[in-house]
Amino acid sequence: MQRGFSLERHEVFVLRLGHRYIRDIRISTHVGLVARAFGAVGVYYYNVEKQVLDSLKKVVDRWGGPFHVEEITSWKKMIQEWKDSSGIVVHLTMYGEPVDTVLNRIRASKRILVVVGAEKVPSELYRMTDYNVAIGSQPHSEVAALAVFLDRFFEGRELGREFQNAKIKVVPSSRGKRLVTLK
Ligand code: SAM
Repeated sequence: MQRGFSLERHEVFVLRLGHRYIRDIRISTHVGLVARAFGAVGVYYYNVEKQVLDSLKKVVDRWGGPFHVEEITSWKKMIQEWKDSSGIVVHLTMYGEPVDTVLNRIRASKRILVVVGAEKVPSELYRMTDYNVAIGSQPHSEVAALAVFLDRFFEGRELGREFQNAKIKVVPSSRGKRLVTLK
């Protein structure tokens, strides 16, 4: 682990809301991969194929964790419980406030649930969230929005995160692929 490197002050989870059956398998999986690689400690899914959860669990098993993967049965209940246990909810949407204007206020909270949608999210979500945050006001992608939000939130420090219980690890090199087997 890098000296002085710590993401522990915050506990960031991601909720992926909305998923088109079959068609979104890859992008929903990528939401989880980005959440893990960019400093979140877990992802919640609502209405996804088991395949999405299974492939993320395989990644955690091979590349390390801790990283929590869970399917929930009610997103409203989940958000309410998160808020009741002193967490805040940040919804990423092109219609929200510019990210840089709200980051410091968001950082003041320890537990943060970042919500990303697929198509149109239910309108009541806007009323249940503490922040609606835009990564620019142009339409793009939940994967891009999540990556940019987390990278700005952790100021790049998340890229140095060491994962525990990994079976393999990359040795960065200027050419080719170097991997070490850890156990
Ligand atoms: N009209 C949607 C919206 O509210 O942002 C765009 C749908 S987009 C295909 C799917 C998801 O990507 C959205 O629910 C949102 O979480 C995220 N997203 C897309 N563009 C974004 C932006 N500029 N800022 C923040 N999030 C964005």
